[in-house]
Amino acid sequence: MSRFRIPARADLVPYVPGEQPRERTYIKLNTNESPYPPSPAVLRAGAEACATLARYPDPTMKALRAAIARELGVGEDMVLPTNGSDEILSFAFAAFCDADTPAVFPDVTYGFYRVFADVYGVPYRTVPLREDFTVAPRDYAAAGGTVFLANPNAPTGIALTPCEIEAILEANPDSVVVVDEAYVEFGAESAISLLARYENLLVTRTFSKSCSMAGARLGFGVANPALISDLAAIKDSQNPYNVNSVTAAMGIATMQGADTVRENCLAVAATRERTAAALAKLGFTMTPSRANFLFARHGAIGGRELYLALRERGILVRHFDAPRIFDYNRITVGSPEEMESLLLAISDILEERK
Ligand SMILES: *Cc1c(COP(=O)(O)O)cnc(C)c1O
Repeated sequence: MSRFRIPARADLVPYVPGEQPRERTYIKLNTNESPYPPSPAVLRAGAEACATLARYPDPTMKALRAAIARELGVGEDMVLPTNGSDEILSFAFAAFCDADTPAVFPDVTYGFYRVFADVYGVPYRTVPLREDFTVAPRDYAAAGGTVFLANPNAPTGIALTPCEIEAILEANPDSVVVVDEAYVEFGAESAISLLARYENLLVTRTFSKSCSMAGARLGFGVANPALISDLAAIKDSQNPYNVNSVTAAMGIATMQGADTVRENCLAVAATRERTAAALAKLGFTMTPSRANFLFARHGAIGGRELYLALRERGILVRHFDAPRIFDYNRITVGSPEEMESLLLAISDILEERK
């Protein structure tokens, strides 16, 4: 740290992303990326957009908002595209949290919520997940702050139903409830249908997981126009050109070919179920995941040990050295071939330890 960093920023503990190693090729099952490439139409749209790189992108992202709105069946003024969904979450902290409005989220969830609270100097309160890692809606009755819920949750993959989300919205009419749907396309139900009735709901989505576009950085928020204009005010005060024109063009093409995305998500969900059954046979216990990852532990080997043994065999999974979950690994659902390699490696590791 230099002597110039201000005291308020001295103790920042940044978010630690999953490894993106460049020194050798791993089977990468650690950051929940898609095993499938973007469609040729998406790649073409990106290449064509390169011709306009000398110009700034449209700061209102009108065409992209229209494409997203059409796909979701909401108004164009209900969508705000961002540089990954991390950015819409950041805007939500900036717009809806302060000393009197703390952030409220589960003790086990996406690690970035705590980081955003810290960087904005906002207090936060964590609500323990139940013993079985579920979110109990009644634990969020009168939460007393802005609620952040990943649905499905990360890293457990467990999903709430729209009914349960509705109960939380009902119980917090004077607070914003942010539902982070980074993984919803893999088998959970979206809260978007609740937007017409709840002015306090913000749904966030990303192109990183389901749409094979993690490298392009595209996400968005969906909410009633008043919430969206609050968030747009933050965006236009920080970075009006937050989404680049190549990414925007690819996002539009992705929405126009949404059937391909749906097929990919179905394929991932089918691979998830087959992999879960195979892991159960090997003696793993897992949370019931509706996402593109499995959260698994084994009685005969510690979470960190398994992570390291897999890493040695060229397979990366995500281990969190955190209370309650250090026995587990979060395993991204990759291609069927990648899962086959994973299962072979795990059988091997377990065999060696006998
Ligand atoms: C991956 C992820 C995000 C954000 O991803 P972006 O690549 O920034 O869109 C947000 N929330 C959760 C729970 C995630 O797992």
